[in-house]
Amino acid sequence: MKLIQTPQDLAINGATPAFEQPLHVGRPNIGSRDAFLKFAEQILDRHWLSNNGPMVQEFEQRVADYHDVKHCVAMCNGTVALEIAIRALGLEGEVIIPSYTFIATAHALHWQAITPVFADINPATHTLDPEAVRCMITPRTTGIIGVRLWGRSVPVEALQTIADEHGLKLMFDSAHAFGCSYKGTMVGNFGACEVLSFHATKFFNTFEGGAVLTNDDKLAETMRLMRNFGFSGMDNVIHPGTNGKMIEIAAAMGIVNLDAITGMVEANRSNYLVYREELSGLPGIRLLSYDESERNNYQYVVIEISEECPATRDQIIQSLHAENILARRYFWPGCHNMKPYRELYPHAGLVLPNTKQVADRVVLLPTGTTVDAGTIQTVTSVIRVFVEDKA
Ligand SMILES: *Cc1c(COP(=O)(O)O)cnc(C)c1O
Repeated sequence: MKLIQTPQDLAINGATPAFEQPLHVGRPNIGSRDAFLKFAEQILDRHWLSNNGPMVQEFEQRVADYHDVKHCVAMCNGTVALEIAIRALGLEGEVIIPSYTFIATAHALHWQAITPVFADINPATHTLDPEAVRCMITPRTTGIIGVRLWGRSVPVEALQTIADEHGLKLMFDSAHAFGCSYKGTMVGNFGACEVLSFHATKFFNTFEGGAVLTNDDKLAETMRLMRNFGFSGMDNVIHPGTNGKMIEIAAAMGIVNLDAITGMVEANRSNYLVYREELSGLPGIRLLSYDESERNNYQYVVIEISEECPATRDQIIQSLHAENILARRYFWPGCHNMKPYRELYPHAGLVLPNTKQVADRVVLLPTGTTVDAGTIQTVTSVIRVFVEDKA
């Protein structure tokens, strides 16, 4: 790691990069290797690799307990979990979602011939604006999927009121929100159900994986059937289905990571606090704050670069990349600007001004258990020196 103090120290000006190895956003958080390898031995000894094995059953129980929710239905990934939840809820026609989300939220609908309709977000929170949702309701609308982007809060009550008024189903894409709370209640307890992702880059991973959390017994039962081809017993298929099963080795990783979760939250939180301290006072750079009265996983360090900043967002990303700091735009330029949806709705952007503003401003900075305070000080000094040099 190299000290960056003057513009001449910046790699973008020809100096050597601050980091020899690239520093990525979304490097996996991994618990005890020994514990994981011991579980792997047990799985091999049992010869039970998939199909609702003991690891998956224990994992589901522990994730449900952690979120204080009745059911956790574990799946092979978050996208299939979304698809199954959407289908189990009987959504069809049109479903309202934000455009500012990972593309899987839109694809999970489109994949099953449901039209995603994009509503704008609140620029302060980056999550759905209830009034914008209200404007997008048509006679074909059957549901709303709120996305807990960056694990931040979604206006649950306002969305539930709209859903109730119009007879719509409400569910949440909570892929970013493992271990987070809303007004003191854990994620998983809102709407009809909430979907988690355990992809390697998420706060909490099972290599690949996902789950649906719900308090609805019947919905959980339906989703359990659907993730296993609709099988009820050995030779009896009683429901349409797909293959959404989580495998044993993934559940083992999940259990190991659950055992390490307190340390992961602490590492992320202390990183967030260092970023907050180091970035304060820089003109036009806002760090998206966490509400410390809630449970948070602190996985996403999100900054917004506004016009008041002497450097543009993309210039700042370039200066970081030159130092081998692979900071990233995220969810830019919004789902509605990606080919499949741009062709469907060429004019969607007209009602998504906040989506555009946020997508054009956001940068994600590296954090996680593999990043320490010294590393963050180097990252922030690159930004500071670059921005001050432009001023
Ligand atoms: C990661 C993610 C998904 C998809 O989860 P996978 O496990 O990668 O399939 C869905 N929605 C959002 C918001 C995500 O970030």
